Parts: sequence; C-alpha cells; structure tokens
Amino acid sequence: MKRIVAIFSVFMVGILSILSIAACQGQHEHSFSPWEITKSATCEQGGKRQKVCTVCGYVVSEDTPMLGHNFVHGKCTDCGASEE
Ligand SMILES: [Zn+2]
Ligand SMILES: [Zn+2]
Repeated sequence: MKRIVAIFSVFMVGILSILSIAACQGQHEHSFSPWEITKSATCEQGGKRQKVCTVCGYVVSEDTPMLGHNFVHGKCTDCGASEE
C-alpha cells in the first residue's frame, strides 16, 4: 500500500513540473494589466495602446481610432481647427 502512495506522489510531482514548465513557456492564460495609452489619439490621428501580461511580459499593442473634430459653431473645441 505504501508503495502505491509513493508512486502516486511521484506521478503528482511529474504533473506539477509539466504544468510549471508550460507556464514558463507562455502556455498559459495571459494575465494582462489594464490598457496603457502609449500614444494619445487626436482629432486627425489615431493613437496606440498596449497591455502587458504580468506573468510573462507578453505585450499586445493595438491602434486606437482617431477622435475626429468636435465642431461647435464652425470651430473644433478640441484643437481649434475651423470647419471648412
Ligand atoms: Zn503571459
Ligand atoms: Zn479637432
């Protein structure tokens, strides 16, 4: 009976080490930090943002859409551009 327990614990240790090796190689569910703006979008240009996995450092970056002018009475309230 003791022998079965010993075999079982070796088996469990094996499983655990396989799991931790997988984690080291990025085979895990990434745990991302909140989006961080790396380039702010403006009226006429898109921006960029990125998020980083806190476990393995994997970076995902994506473009953010440009904001577009916000014309009030023919003038943009954000950048001051005139409406044509
Ligand atoms: Zn990760
Ligand atoms: Zn504008």
